[in-house]
Amino acid sequence: MGDLGFINENISEVERKILSACVKAERNPNDVTLICVSKTKPVPMLLEAYNHGCRQFGENKVQEIIQKSSEMPEDVVWHMIGHLQKNKVRKSVLHAEYIHSVDSYELACLINSEASRINKVQKILLEINIAGEESKYGLSPDSAIELVKEISLFNNIIICGLMCVAPYTDEPETNRKYFKHMHDLLLDINSLSIDNVHMDMLSMGMSGDYEVAIEEGATFVRVGTNIFGERDYSNN
Ligand SMILES: *Cc1c(COP(=O)(O)O)cnc(C)c1O
Repeated sequence: MGDLGFINENISEVERKILSACVKAERNPNDVTLICVSKTKPVPMLLEAYNHGCRQFGENKVQEIIQKSSEMPEDVVWHMIGHLQKNKVRKSVLHAEYIHSVDSYELACLINSEASRINKVQKILLEINIAGEESKYGLSPDSAIELVKEISLFNNIIICGLMCVAPYTDEPETNRKYFKHMHDLLLDINSLSIDNVHMDMLSMGMSGDYEVAIEEGATFVRVGTNIFGERDYSNN
């Protein structure tokens, strides 16, 4: 597979940038967690990241989590970050520590019943379509509060926070307003003091814009390309 040393260097570079974004924003670096987004990438690449010290990995297909987790060390924390189909809920609840992509009551109901079946309290984030893009999954910001209230009644789900996939851009500053809006929405929801709800996670920022996301309060950044290189979908 060739020399994978570049992964180690890439992660060091991303970590440096995370640190300097934290310094700039006067935030504690311990409050920002890097999720290595390893979708489509082979296990030896993930092991390289693991050996660097990374334990958080994100995939957008549960099947990839199942395959890779069987070959990766036990202490990896798996994040399901992709759109979740109803027939994949059972497996996601079995294998993912966090599900970042919950965007409907129906999906939450299914997650709750699957989690209840195995005596788990599933950690989830609500996916917000923060820029109102036609092509994206996620709830509108306006409908988030209602869904939080509904989910708060479930015994086997804990809502950890909010997640978004901001618009693709070469100019990260243009996404700052969306990240700010996400943070405001989180504060708004917390201020309602809904029973059993205190969200403190914001999953936002990808290779192109994670530094701006951190400046606006991201606690999980999801970085793929800047760690593992471009993805090749040509043989799928
Ligand atoms: C692929 C993906 C990422 C990582 O994107 P990069 O631009 O490669 O860093 C982050 N979040 C989600 C939901 C993704 O699907």
